[in-house]
Amino acid sequence: MRIVFMGPPGAGKGTQATRLRDDLSIPHLSTGEVLREACRAGAKFGCQTSAYIEAGELVPDETILDIVVERLDQTDCQTGFLFDGFPRTVVQAKELDRLLGERNLAIDLVLELVIEIDELILRLSLRGRSDDTEEVIQERLQQYDVLTRPVIDYYRERNLVETICGEGTPDEIFARIKVAVDKVGK
Ligand code: AMP
Repeated sequence: MRIVFMGPPGAGKGTQATRLRDDLSIPHLSTGEVLREACRAGAKFGCQTSAYIEAGELVPDETILDIVVERLDQTDCQTGFLFDGFPRTVVQAKELDRLLGERNLAIDLVLELVIEIDELILRLSLRGRSDDTEEVIQERLQQYDVLTRPVIDYYRERNLVETICGEGTPDEIFARIKVAVDKVGK
């Protein structure tokens, strides 16, 4: 199964994506995690992208797509994958479709995790990452509204989106996700 996990920063995508990865035995690719790891490891592209992350801005599409194209062809992705935090722009979504099309593959399901804005800001401020300061949070939410919401519309036109309420306990949220995944049933 090929799944895209969407939702604003702080909606709980990471936690739920990890659970879904374990449940479905498919790899979980978080582009944000790849970028943070590259920065920690001192890789050149990691250092070049850290300024965007610290400012709450999106990293250029080409950098992200380079990461994704390399990952897509690794053997563990052949039976499916779970993207988390990608695609974040319509350019990325279209390019992903093109890359999958070339391989006779397609996205099966887009999970959109939704949560109230006040709860989001609270969760982000408790998380304490260096890009979770008040100013950066506002910028990331703004980028999400302007650049990433249109991606959800892009997938909605293709009838791929299941909207999941992201409030409640992790178990409750995961149960909702499972219902949506089982409906696709691949
Ligand atoms: P995340 O861990 O998904 O919240 O991502 C952290 C940061 O990494 C984001 O605020 C962006 O600066 C960058 N990032 C992660 N994924 C992408 C993407 N698909 N496109 C552009 N920037 C990204």
